[in-house]
Amino acid sequence: VKISKSYKLASRDFHPEDTIIDINGVKIGGKEIVIMGGPCAVESAEQIDEIAALVKAAGGQVLRGGAFKPRTGPYSFQGVGVEGLIMMQEAGKKHGLLTITEVMTPEYVDVCAEYADILQIGTRNMQNFDLLRKLGTCGKPVLLKRGFSATYDELLNAAEYILAGGNPNVMLCERGIRTFESYTRNTLDLAAIPVLQQLSHLPVISDPSHGTGRRELVEPMCKASIAAGANGLIVEMHTDPDNSMTGDGVQSLFPDQFAVLLKDLEKLAPLV
Ligand code: PEP
Ligand code: MN
Repeated sequence: VKISKSYKLASRDFHPEDTIIDINGVKIGGKEIVIMGGPCAVESAEQIDEIAALVKAAGGQVLRGGAFKPRTGPYSFQGVGVEGLIMMQEAGKKHGLLTITEVMTPEYVDVCAEYADILQIGTRNMQNFDLLRKLGTCGKPVLLKRGFSATYDELLNAAEYILAGGNPNVMLCERGIRTFESYTRNTLDLAAIPVLQQLSHLPVISDPSHGTGRRELVEPMCKASIAAGANGLIVEMHTDPDNSMTGDGVQSLFPDQFAVLLKDLEKLAPLV
């Protein structure tokens, strides 16, 4: 095998078959699409329980929600912390959903791995190399978001840190990059989906919520992501988006929109 790239374990040259990550029978990376849905942030036990029920009823498999939030400003709501992890685990168990939550620092990897099924690395931490190294031994699958100014090569090298540390279960996530365009919050780079799948064997998940920052664009960009070959979607949904505790209410779907979206997506590709 000729390897000309700086990463190796993440490369398709090294590992020709698609990686399929099996989490309690939910297979991520195959022909079926995995849907992760939920609020930007865990706000209360009632909130996450109610949203979990809606994600499950719509046909989703994974409950998303941040207990630790990477906020641009230090005075903004920073998340409910470890309590939120407990609330989310309970909601996931009760409704039969896997859970995914963001971990921001190496010190919190163990506690997040104790309560969540998948650990999310946010765009701002894609090159937090101490964090990536720690994920190599966390024992849980990782969803690695592309840095908003990162190249494909940098993303794949970030994944390489986790793989090289001993964790083979890494998903790549396109969540939009920073461009000159300001109408959208970020520019969802759809080409990243086939490019990453050509360069790598790792599953590719698309995040049209952060990728556009606008609720009305989430549905078309979910469909476009599936058409481009994404292995899954991570979508923000909230029961009361206008009063959500982070600014991400404007990009969160209402529950009925989320349910209709999943019905439409089923016509494009089988869901997990
Ligand atoms: C999120 O998923 O709520 C989030 C903060 O994502 P990102 O790191 O892509 O901004
Ligand atoms: Mn968010």
